Amino acid sequence: MKRVEEMGLWERIYLPEVIRGLCLTGYRFWRNLIVHTLHLFGLAKHLQAAITVQYPEERLPYPETFRGRHRLTLKDDGSPHCTACFLCATACPAQCIYIQAGEYPDNPVEKFPIRYEIDTLRCIYCSLCVEACPCDAIRMDTGIHPANWGFSRKDFVEDKETLMNRSRELEEKGPEGLYEEHVSRYRHV
Ligand code: SF4
Ligand code: SF4
Repeated sequence: MKRVEEMGLWERIYLPEVIRGLCLTGYRFWRNLIVHTLHLFGLAKHLQAAITVQYPEERLPYPETFRGRHRLTLKDDGSPHCTACFLCATACPAQCIYIQAGEYPDNPVEKFPIRYEIDTLRCIYCSLCVEACPCDAIRMDTGIHPANWGFSRKDFVEDKETLMNRSRELEEKGPEGLYEEHVSRYRHV
């Protein structure tokens, strides 16, 4: 990007560039409208027009590596695999994982998270937490997008129970069931 002092007079006036941008947008809009209309009548099939995916009713196929909302994986007894080692929180570039470690009365070696929270407003969905975890305790394989609406900041903080429940629901309903439930909330807002 150019600095102001590197710009010529034409660019410093801004107005010509604004008009150029509007012309380009207008051209795209009318071209798409006309080409789609022609397609409706079976004409100009050789011309391509832009298509907007009507999310959430339509979805493009997600890659295997899609990083969806987090979940805490569970042991057979329903407790989290997480040992509250803090490696994920340390690796997190957004510093949005909050852990409070607790100790088992009968196990002096391993710990568990009393509190495990992810502030998804700060999360950049980089999956470094998943990579850092030595015991596969956190995953982002749910296939669902982060929440994009809420009424307060707290609505975006996912706590331990939410993250554990997501694992249970994923097992019960599968990724498609989880996704349907996720988007049904948006449809009823
Ligand atoms: S996905 Fe990235 S930003 Fe989000 S919690 Fe994990 S490490 Fe932090
Ligand atoms: S999720 Fe994994 S890396 Fe993070 S505290 Fe738990 S065990 Fe450690």
